[in-house]
Amino acid sequence: MTDSEFGEIQTRTNARARGFTFRVSEGHLLVTVPQRWSERELAESIERMRPKLRNLMQRVAAKPYNQVERRIGWDFRIESECFTFRLKPDSTLQGRRCLLSKEHGHVTLCCPPDFDFMADGAQAWLVKVVEEQVRSYAKGMLPARLRALANEHRLPVDAVHINSARGRWGSCVKDLKHKSLANTTGYHINISLFVLLLPERLQRLVMLHELTHTLEMNHSPRFHAKLDAMLGGNEATLEKELKRFTTDIFAFAAQ
Ligand SMILES: [Zn+2]
Repeated sequence: MTDSEFGEIQTRTNARARGFTFRVSEGHLLVTVPQRWSERELAESIERMRPKLRNLMQRVAAKPYNQVERRIGWDFRIESECFTFRLKPDSTLQGRRCLLSKEHGHVTLCCPPDFDFMADGAQAWLVKVVEEQVRSYAKGMLPARLRALANEHRLPVDAVHINSARGRWGSCVKDLKHKSLANTTGYHINISLFVLLLPERLQRLVMLHELTHTLEMNHSPRFHAKLDAMLGGNEATLEKELKRFTTDIFAFAAQ
């Protein structure tokens, strides 16, 4: 359909959606619509939201072309090997707050069907909710995995921390302060919470990379030879694959 102010409006059906969710894609309004909807309902919804939509169009237009407007709506979902996240409209929540339901790494955020994804602060809040769930599962799963790998390869590690680092998957530091203490090796490994969203083979790469630093505190040929041996000769292939991922929840959002 066409709107006198916004021009051509594209629609995309999502069986799980109960209401309309608006986005801007390449200068056009893109609406996620439920299975059953009518042009009249959509037109009414646009009329109600016109000032907000105008604002959204202007904000997007002010950005460089290659910077896509990334938003969380009904169709946002993360489906990684160890963690999934999705949103679900729940009519029993009408007029109430959203509710999280979790089951073994599968998180669902149930929201009232009329949840306003464009309300002030809604997007920042949603991003925070997703990241907090990733952090919570990362803290529950990753340290144990790293320690199991350390045991398997007889590598020493004292402390494992999960942090919110962006731009790096992990780091390994030798804590010189506690060097003199008996029974400690002084190696602290930090792992970014986004590692949880990587496929398990890449989680292994990141963890073994940091663990290898307990043998070689550098990236010398010796370091890579040791790491490559632990990875069965696949270090280069896995490194190349890891470059396709970034530390950003939207980078893991399924299309
Ligand atoms: Zn390194």
